[in-house]
Amino acid sequence: MSVITPVLMHTENVECHFRVLIIAEGFKDTEMSTFDTYADKAMDAILDIEPFDSNSSKINFYKVSSESVDSGIATRAAVDVCEDCEDIVDPGGNYNQLYEVTKDTHWDCAFNRANSSYYLGMSLTKRQKLEDDYGDFAGGNRVFAIIICNTTSWGGGAEFPGLCEHTSITNPKVSVAIINKVTPDAHFNFLVTHEFGHSFGDLDDEYFEDAEIACAIEEHENFLWVYANRLNVKDTNPGGWYAGARYVSSKWRATDNDLMRGKYVSGAYPVGFDSPNESLVQDRIDDEAVLCPSPGNQTFTISAIGRTTAASACNDSLTVTKYGRPVVGQTIYDDTFKTIPFDGDNKYYKTSYKNRSAKVSPSGEVLSLTLC
Ligand SMILES: [Zn+2]
Repeated sequence: MSVITPVLMHTENVECHFRVLIIAEGFKDTEMSTFDTYADKAMDAILDIEPFDSNSSKINFYKVSSESVDSGIATRAAVDVCEDCEDIVDPGGNYNQLYEVTKDTHWDCAFNRANSSYYLGMSLTKRQKLEDDYGDFAGGNRVFAIIICNTTSWGGGAEFPGLCEHTSITNPKVSVAIINKVTPDAHFNFLVTHEFGHSFGDLDDEYFEDAEIACAIEEHENFLWVYANRLNVKDTNPGGWYAGARYVSSKWRATDNDLMRGKYVSGAYPVGFDSPNESLVQDRIDDEAVLCPSPGNQTFTISAIGRTTAASACNDSLTVTKYGRPVVGQTIYDDTFKTIPFDGDNKYYKTSYKNRSAKVSPSGEVLSLTLC
């Protein structure tokens, strides 16, 4: 199969951007206008929430109208029995999807990933083809694929950046989210932004109410559990977090109920990221965008801000933060550009540079310096 050239969906953002490919799966040539509709919906859903709304000039969306012989997607055979679980995990009630269904589609997407009926994955062969076809499309950084499957049954799946469903593909340059045409639109919007929260935002699932999923994931995709502490899910409480995440009660999640938990309340899924996930995704934008101008050196006065002791006894600590969080590994200079020692692990440096300025030379913005 030849490589299909991605088609830009809007006016090109030439400078400082990352690239998203919206890809058709299970659409026959006669069904491609339906894919076009859902590709637009997916782009709009992402651009409707922060931080993507404020960064719309940093995202280029492309369509890949890959045709399939068959309409719809396959269902994998249930490969074995998950110990202590039901044979196939089916929290969505998709009992019509429990048995193997074969389809001739462009990307081999299928239900029953990890024996979970609504969990979507793709074959190793086609996942490698995706890497071969588009791995270099982003000009050095990753490209983010959103594959829309031509079925209205609830289903989704995603990778984390650099971590593929198939472990034989190491350091993938494409990060994949797979979604279906679920209805109504509010559910579709939730699904695409949630899965993109995984594949772009590097955020983990914050829901914890499902022991069967926990068992199935541990049984079939144990390699994902190696990455036990993602940005928004941790083994210990950093302070102010919420108990329960990634399908178990023993982990901690950053937000109560933003779209990475997606708890369905009063007829609606949560829309958008809550704090701190929104700023974590902003960091991801800064990390993944290419062709961005350097912000250059920034100067901050560190004279007497927040000082609580007399100058002679003062041993101020300087905390460098970016988007409200300490920055690790920052280089700080005094006003003659002499390097000031900085403890990247503890995020403090001790200074005698009273009433002087500090210059911060970051790869990205540093928004504040605060003396304690
Ligand atoms: Zn998820």
